[in-house]
Amino acid sequence: MDVRAQVSMVFHLDKCIGCHTCSVACKNIWTDRKGTEYMWWNNVETKPGTGYPTLWEDQEKYKGGWTKNGERLALKLHGRVGGLSNLFFNPYLPTVDDYYEPWTYDYGHLFDAPAGDDQPTARAVSMITGKPMEIEAGPNWDDDYGGSPLYAENDPNLDALTEEEREQLTEMERVVFFYLPRICNHCLNPGCVAACPAGAVYKRGEDGIVLLSQEKCRAWRMCISGCPYKKTYYNWSTGKSEKCILCYPRLESGQPPACFHSCVGRIRYLGVLLYDASRIEATASVPDRDLVEAQREIIQDPRDPRVIAAARANGVSDAMIDAAQQSPVYRFVKQWRLALPLHAEFRTLPMLFYVPPMLPVLAKVKDGRYDNADAASTSLAPLLSSLERARMPLRYMAKLFSAGNEEVVAASYRKLIAVRIYMRAKTAGGISDAEVQEALRVGDTTPAEVEAIFQLTARPTFEERFVVPPLGRESAIEAMRDPLEQKREGGFGFRKAPVRGA
Ligand code: SF4
Ligand code: SF4
Repeated sequence: MDVRAQVSMVFHLDKCIGCHTCSVACKNIWTDRKGTEYMWWNNVETKPGTGYPTLWEDQEKYKGGWTKNGERLALKLHGRVGGLSNLFFNPYLPTVDDYYEPWTYDYGHLFDAPAGDDQPTARAVSMITGKPMEIEAGPNWDDDYGGSPLYAENDPNLDALTEEEREQLTEMERVVFFYLPRICNHCLNPGCVAACPAGAVYKRGEDGIVLLSQEKCRAWRMCISGCPYKKTYYNWSTGKSEKCILCYPRLESGQPPACFHSCVGRIRYLGVLLYDASRIEATASVPDRDLVEAQREIIQDPRDPRVIAAARANGVSDAMIDAAQQSPVYRFVKQWRLALPLHAEFRTLPMLFYVPPMLPVLAKVKDGRYDNADAASTSLAPLLSSLERARMPLRYMAKLFSAGNEEVVAASYRKLIAVRIYMRAKTAGGISDAEVQEALRVGDTTPAEVEAIFQLTARPTFEERFVVPPLGRESAIEAMRDPLEQKREGGFGFRKAPVRGA
């Protein structure tokens, strides 16, 4: 057993209100410089939708992530020989049109316009050409189904649905969508790291954060293609690639990342997971339908003495192990089996997990009252039937969160429904005890577990949501070399701004 620590995340999608505060917090801290205009390390998409950059999930177009080559895992982008031949020409990169043409406004005109009869306006100006432009796309252009015929209808995940199901999704009275915030997943088997010919992308030993060295980057941009989530970006000004750094300077000072801290819906959780690194390749190689379960398996119980001993033997500090024991991520992912990885079939073993959003139920209004009584015709009581009668087909959610395995996503939903029924019976009443017991049985849960899920979902404190481990940079360096020598030779860090071509 090769136990290592990974700082991991859970996003509870039911609580996301699509306010984009997270994106703006990140943008203002990290990507407000020249060359980063079009970059959103954190972005929020409406689903169904084509996302940012457009159609990022379509790996036939972008060739991101891994594929199974017989029994072996191979980058979808290319093998070693293909890598060499594509070195000076990478045909699978998103273009600026796939992101969007960044713009600003001619604010000066608001002040300088000569006196006149009409109100001056600030016209949109391209940040690429400096000329006035018509805005035709943006990082959240398909927000709330804006521009649906162009965007939502082309979501690659809709392929799994019948024509009728697709039409139902956008019928005015049954319209349904949800928000999907995305950052770098800081994967266990990152495609970006494997694809970089310069070795500039690396996974930090002590916490698993995936970083991109601005000194080593030679702008081959293979990391952009290798990442199936399109979470590395090319800075045209410095000639280097950049990506989400999980706000590691904040983490090192005990604070959660800015997008987590500012999240209005409090959907975000951060904590440590211990995993067995010797099983990464085997885990990423199982058939699609087993991927989620295999990823759960690789995560180790932080209270198991054998795991603790193996972690200590690898230099994981006691403080880190303690953080893993308090981790909200461990509870959501492993203990309660509620949170699931996004597109596990890309086989990068993403360490950002999502609790899927509850699905609105199909029902009708009868005599002015909400009526779902005909649900009783199914074998389940009306409230419990909400999964079978959900407006968003389960198959769509399975395509996103369980590599197509509907049973995995359904099990997560059954537990969420049990929480809803139990808490509704407790706080509002009007639900029979028989139905509550049936919900607990179907959801494979207990009253104690439901109360714990409710607490961490609805009323968590700041400290419960973010268990930030002491990262111990000095002691991590100590494992390899004398910290004083390191300081003398390396200074306090990388101080020069990256220079194009350097
Ligand atoms: S999500 Fe992040 S760690 Fe995973 S492949 Fe993409 S850039 Fe790399
Ligand atoms: S700040 Fe939180 S609630 Fe708002 S869009 Fe971002 S993730 Fe969703």
